[in-house]
Amino acid sequence: MIINFRQISSSEAPMEFHQTLDVGHVVKGRNDIAGISPMQVDLQAQPAGGGVIHVTGHLLAELDMSCSRCLKSLKHRVEVQFEEAFKQSDEDSGELDEGEEDLVLVSGERLDLTPYLEEALLLELPFSVVCKEDCKGLCPSCGTDLNERQCGCNTERIDPRLAALGDFFKK
Ligand SMILES: [Zn+2]
Ligand SMILES: [Zn+2]
Repeated sequence: MIINFRQISSSEAPMEFHQTLDVGHVVKGRNDIAGISPMQVDLQAQPAGGGVIHVTGHLLAELDMSCSRCLKSLKHRVEVQFEEAFKQSDEDSGELDEGEEDLVLVSGERLDLTPYLEEALLLELPFSVVCKEDCKGLCPSCGTDLNERQCGCNTERIDPRLAALGDFFKK
């Protein structure tokens, strides 16, 4: 997703970008994410003076995941508020001035936003999801979905710390 520095700098009004990006490769390393929809990108770019361009907007993608407790498949929406400022540098080894540490330095007139958008998405991917807050999960001995029925297994678990304490008192 390419934006043009000069075009944005010379534009009176903020420029709007609406696009979808294929982000399948972003979740490739995640076994718990079975798939991802194309990411909906809605951005606004505007000059902020001094060769700086301010890009803000909203990213949206839908993940195919499974509940970390009962393994049921579910859809999980990821929404990201995107905000980044870019500064164009004419020299190849351009350096940021003091107070500009938050800016991303770009050489050339064309700026590919894709890696920044993908990184923003990556940071917002959930580590695990549940189908509902009180999902009871699967029985650890027979695998029954405890949301649907009780299986009757004895799954009473003793906290290992308490168990150790029990041993202590037996002595
Ligand atoms: Zn569940
Ligand atoms: Zn069971």
